[in-house]
Amino acid sequence: MFRRLLQQIHIPCQCVVCDAWPATGLVCENCVGKYAQPMARCSTCALALPSSLLKHLTQCGSCMVNRPPLDACYAAVSYAFPWTDCIASYKFGSDPAWSKTFGLLMQSNSQIEAAMANTDVVIPIPLSNERLRERGYNQAHEICKRLAGAKTDPHLLLRVKHTDVQSRLKRTERLKNVATAFAIDPLRAADIKGKRVVLVDDVMTSGATLFSAAKVLRQAQAAHITAVVFARTEIQ
Ligand SMILES: [Zn+2]
Ligand SMILES: [Zn+2]
Repeated sequence: MFRRLLQQIHIPCQCVVCDAWPATGLVCENCVGKYAQPMARCSTCALALPSSLLKHLTQCGSCMVNRPPLDACYAAVSYAFPWTDCIASYKFGSDPAWSKTFGLLMQSNSQIEAAMANTDVVIPIPLSNERLRERGYNQAHEICKRLAGAKTDPHLLLRVKHTDVQSRLKRTERLKNVATAFAIDPLRAADIKGKRVVLVDDVMTSGATLFSAAKVLRQAQAAHITAVVFARTEIQ
């Protein structure tokens, strides 16, 4: 609470990663330079690829075999130190102030910036009402507000099923868990047809959640679907 207050009145505070003074955000410039370098990634699931491979390939093996229902997928950082702890305090520590730092890091990625500029609508992955009540805010929606507030529409995509927490499940269980979790508001389907859509979430692990949401957007005839996340796990 005190840290948040300091930020609001623009007094420098310590970097949460290295404790350096002064930091104008939650993470200092040195740590951003060290831990948020852009990486070569698969174009449809954002999995990190060796940069030498990118001269010949744009997709990982898994996406070549089973193309995900996404036209493009971008991540700002890898789900690793120090971001795992930052995301935990964002999601489970009731600290929505992190959305500003995550949003800035995402905006500094040129692919994410271009996706936001070229899209018609930005949709956060919705939480179930139950989880929204528990957390008090939707972490994906908070990031959307930072990225493209005017284009954000949190009411088009609905979470119609409360699902188990994905991080406790194995990959096949994750796919099954979210397979029927989403639907388009039937009265708003015309707002998706023929539109370029960006789906936003904080973390992408197996991709099950984003793929499931993308499938319903595809059925509603979205013209182009991009997924954008703050952090991507590197081992599936
Ligand atoms: Zn630092
Ligand atoms: Zn891939």
